[in-house]
Amino acid sequence: MFTSINPYNQRKLKAYRLDTGNTIERKLKQADRAFADWSALSLRERTDYLRKVGGYLNTEKQRYAELMSAEMGKTLREAVAEVEKCAAACTFYADHAEAFLADEFIKTEAQASFITYQPVGAVLAIMPWNYPFWQVMRFAIPGLIAGNVGLLKHAPNVSGCSLAIEELFRACGLPEGVFQSLLVDVPVVETLLKDRRVKAVTLTGSGRAGSSVASIAGREIKKSVLELGGSDALIVLADADLDKAAEVAVKSRMQNAGQSCIAAKRFIVEKSVKKQFTERVLDQINQIKQGDPMNDATTMGPMARLDLADSIERQCRDTLAKGAKLLTGDMKRSGCNVAPMLLDKVKPGMAAFDEETFGPLAVLIDARDEADAIRLANQSDFGLGSALWMQDLDKADRLARQIQAGSVFVNGLMRSDARVPFGGIKTSGFGRELSEIGIKEFVNVKTIWIE
Ligand code: NDP
Repeated sequence: MFTSINPYNQRKLKAYRLDTGNTIERKLKQADRAFADWSALSLRERTDYLRKVGGYLNTEKQRYAELMSAEMGKTLREAVAEVEKCAAACTFYADHAEAFLADEFIKTEAQASFITYQPVGAVLAIMPWNYPFWQVMRFAIPGLIAGNVGLLKHAPNVSGCSLAIEELFRACGLPEGVFQSLLVDVPVVETLLKDRRVKAVTLTGSGRAGSSVASIAGREIKKSVLELGGSDALIVLADADLDKAAEVAVKSRMQNAGQSCIAAKRFIVEKSVKKQFTERVLDQINQIKQGDPMNDATTMGPMARLDLADSIERQCRDTLAKGAKLLTGDMKRSGCNVAPMLLDKVKPGMAAFDEETFGPLAVLIDARDEADAIRLANQSDFGLGSALWMQDLDKADRLARQIQAGSVFVNGLMRSDARVPFGGIKTSGFGRELSEIGIKEFVNVKTIWIE
């Protein structure tokens, strides 16, 4: 059984029976059958279905948000915004898929030569609990519109969300089998990836999970997209708008109780403005109201699981033992409720610099100058997102190109946006989600040449 536990009060919510061999086989058969019919529909028919999904998400947002908050502890406000973001992505792809997937003609000596984009079949999506709807939908919306079908292996602690997403597609009339949830344990993933009916895999999660899944997919010669962890730098240079930078830095780090792959995990600050920036950051952190995520006044809920809270505590202790200073917060946590923390004097070699910290832990790192700031930002195994705060935009353009990451946001909150590609380099993964590039990850880019 998978059991959902409310992380705020540790109350058991519900137990879910795992899918057994027969059920898994039935779902694989259904996915295979559904692909034949779904991919034969016109693009317009599929986009119409996804528009309906967007409308349904908006109508049901309160119900879905409550489910997310109960299962993994994000505040209700954050959860509602997450459902709205999914709905907006449905509209975005419904509006643009035709242009994104149109045949592309290429001038050659042939009578005609062109590229056509065709779906590949059933794609397995292995997803985490931190954005239980968004992580799934940002794959599913473009994937399904392109003509693929989806099989979801969600994180066990959000099994209710997994089933709710399956129900969402069913409620919008998508044919049976186009999107199915599988309640399965990790070892089943290998069996699924070896099955000829599963054509590709996308995973969002830790490097450990990504490495294992990509190895199996590689052996089976199946395409994989990996969106893994990050240790995003947020660089603040001397000419930055410090009020805005501090406000956004704290939002980026502390939203979702710090459990976001693209959270600003390392604040790298030019020394001349460090004191002023730190004061502003402390002020922002002191405004955070921790509590019951269902309560409107709460701005930060609990972490999603006890083991995750244990991890952030270990990383914080390790960093302090190596000479960092705790400026605010303490580690007297109650269960999953971890107080927001700020550490100063963090350096390479400390856990909070070297590892991904997935919780409400902000860290300050001193940089001598802009060159030092870029060097520190790049001194990481990760390369997901990053942010640069400075007024000189010509220089920002030059520096942004030097940062080793999949995205750089200048003077703004690093975020995923359906209009632009999202993904990482180094151990943050490969492949891209969202935008025109994302919808083309799971298609056969077919050349047709007519002599
Ligand atoms: P995991 O990477 O273990 O879990 C994410 C998903 O991958 C879950 O569905 C999980 O299933 C599955 N999974 C795990 N191992 C394998 C495997 N070997 N083969 C196939 N699927 C697998 O993350 P955790 O929840 O354990 O979190 C640990 C750390 O990972 C966090 O502290 C954070 O640093 C990072 N993380 C990063 C995320 C991001 O958005 N980049 C999201 C979540 C975590 P199951 O739970 O059943 O093991």
